[in-house]
Amino acid sequence: MTVTGIAAPGAGLSYPFAAPAADGSAVEVAPGLLWLRMPMPMALDHINVYLLQADEGWFIVDTGLDTPTTREIWRAVIARLPGPVAGVVCTHFHYDHAGLAAWLSETHDVPLWMTHGEYYMLRATAAPLPDPLPPLQQRHYDRSGMPPERQRAMLAALRRDGYSPAVPQAFRRLRDGDVLQIGARRWRIVVGEGHSPEHACLYADADRILLAGDQLLPRISSNVLVMPIEPDADPLSLWLASLRRLEALAPDTLVLPSHDEVFSGLHARTRALDEHHREKLARLQSIVAEAGSCRAFEAMLALFPRLKGPVDDVLALGETLAHLAWLVRRGLLRCDGGAGVGAGGVQRYSRVPMEQVV
Ligand SMILES: [Zn+2]
Repeated sequence: MTVTGIAAPGAGLSYPFAAPAADGSAVEVAPGLLWLRMPMPMALDHINVYLLQADEGWFIVDTGLDTPTTREIWRAVIARLPGPVAGVVCTHFHYDHAGLAAWLSETHDVPLWMTHGEYYMLRATAAPLPDPLPPLQQRHYDRSGMPPERQRAMLAALRRDGYSPAVPQAFRRLRDGDVLQIGARRWRIVVGEGHSPEHACLYADADRILLAGDQLLPRISSNVLVMPIEPDADPLSLWLASLRRLEALAPDTLVLPSHDEVFSGLHARTRALDEHHREKLARLQSIVAEAGSCRAFEAMLALFPRLKGPVDDVLALGETLAHLAWLVRRGLLRCDGGAGVGAGGVQRYSRVPMEQVV
């Protein structure tokens, strides 16, 4: 699954370092803390990974996709390091972050740190998508009103997506509030939700550095999706609450994100992302009001008018459902239908009459 997508350019941010090329070059962003990039053969063409120096060697934070190129770059990088690999940390299960978690931790016989939620999500999503989908998962797409041929193209694109990470045999558990001592730094785990189930950010309070993963990106907004495995989820509430937790960190924090550049301006960015979602919520309310009532599929087409293909559909439908769910949970829209199969099983969203809004 692609991890990020919808543009939301960052304002009020500064970028103190030029980005390294995605070829194994490294930029030292703080003493004993290296920023590297791994290439990705997709629209989002790189992921940032970080190397943290400890007495016993180097800790790798996020791994890149499992491709021959990434493995080759890692071999060259590790051969040049002044010390062995001492551990691997994955912020979350997405394949650009954990694609080589098994390979790196097992090749070097070092521990892999992940949260429980992310490790088990990685395991759960390692199996190929069933064909046909199980009926309850199929119903998730049917009730959106997406036409069957468009659903088929979307699911075919997901099945072609061949980057599922190998499953690491074991892990060490990270929990919110845990402290991971790596070299001179104490990294406090700050868990975020909404983009993935239990995403670990690492925060060094002493020198105010945040390894942010996909919880805080400077130029794009992370996908917040409702997925068929949890069709009645409200991930946007979790995401917005996670942004508020990051707002508790120091304003001069240096943010080390998983995509685009290292930046400062944490609070400007959390505000911009919050506004980005509030604007989408307002637009959805207008879309539904103008239509009288509509299905999630129609809301998706209106909210995302420039979709380029079936992979975009996965992200756009999931995002639309996440925003609709937020509005329904708060009584700002109503949702009818969706309990049965066929036409009766399609959900329709409509305005809540004003007298019912308190
Ligand atoms: Zn992600």
